Amino acid sequence: MRRRLATAGLLDIADKLDAATRLDLEDGVRLFESPDLLAVGWLANRVRERLHGPRTFFNHNIRLEATNVCVANCLFCSFARLKEGDPGSYTMSLEQAWSKLRQRLDQPITEVHIVNGLHPTLPFSYYTDLLAGFKAIRPDIHLKAFTAVEIAFFADLYGMTDEQVLRALMAAGLDSLPGGGAEIFAPRVRRKICDDKCDGDRWLAIHRTAHRLGMRSNVTMLYGHIETHAERVDHMLRARALQDETGGFQAFIPLAFHPDNNQMRKLPAPSAADSLRTHAVARLVLDNIPHVKAFWIATGVEVAQASLWFGVDDLDGTVQEERIYHMAGARTPEALTTGQIRALIADAGREACERDTLYNLIPA
Ligand code: SF4
Repeated sequence: MRRRLATAGLLDIADKLDAATRLDLEDGVRLFESPDLLAVGWLANRVRERLHGPRTFFNHNIRLEATNVCVANCLFCSFARLKEGDPGSYTMSLEQAWSKLRQRLDQPITEVHIVNGLHPTLPFSYYTDLLAGFKAIRPDIHLKAFTAVEIAFFADLYGMTDEQVLRALMAAGLDSLPGGGAEIFAPRVRRKICDDKCDGDRWLAIHRTAHRLGMRSNVTMLYGHIETHAERVDHMLRARALQDETGGFQAFIPLAFHPDNNQMRKLPAPSAADSLRTHAVARLVLDNIPHVKAFWIATGVEVAQASLWFGVDDLDGTVQEERIYHMAGARTPEALTTGQIRALIADAGREACERDTLYNLIPA
């Protein structure tokens, strides 16, 4: 393998990894630009197996997007509608939202994952009541809810600090933050694709605060649109730096850009090779974030399965009723059963491990 790594121009990076020396921006860019995808994957797989062996995690969850009304205008978004009443817009009543869980009380779901548009007129009590209602239905359910973009929006709309918003939501039942809204932290890209929502520094500051308050969270990266390889690695390095401070991130989740029904539809979607490589580079650069997750809704089930040999150790969950990616043209199923997830992990030669949101194992 050393000869192959040398031919690929990656021998010094392999030596750095062996010596537990951190990769830098230039190393990350070279991993993106090396012609030998399998050599990059081999290096990432080595780290993945050192951390997790064959174990591959997933959870039994549902998604809820309570409203798609959103005052922002992110160019890559196919989900949002600007105003109530616009074609395709919706806002669930609290009863409608709660019924998503109530209908599934016979299923051993451990998590509700909630993200929404930035609705300009709903009262803050809509969100606190939403959380409290889910807890009343299933007190043991883990509520992973509201991206840092939503937290920033709530703070500005309701005249609170970011910390006051987080504390109020935690008092109502919030358990952790999802990793969405990170997109690409680099200001050049953010200005072009999502200028009217919180910037990368505030996104990171909100997660810093959430970690200080005792919550765990994840961090995503939207890739495959106008960003450069250097900007992808820069994104990873900013996440790595915050993780050095707090240790609160559980997983890094690359999210493949989907071009249907949005303002960036002229761009192609990232290829399978790009997706595999992006997950692999994340595993190599992020030496302090325990899990790299393939969100199978975004990558496609087949790429997610292959990624289990490219640094990925987590496949998210059963999901159920995902709208954001399906409105952007995702042709993946809307849900996988736990049996289907276990089978696709086993078919890849890995060991399926059901977990809860905080990575406690759930007996099969
Ligand atoms: S990505 Fe989020 S913030 Fe941006 S337009 Fe869509 S729903 Fe709104």
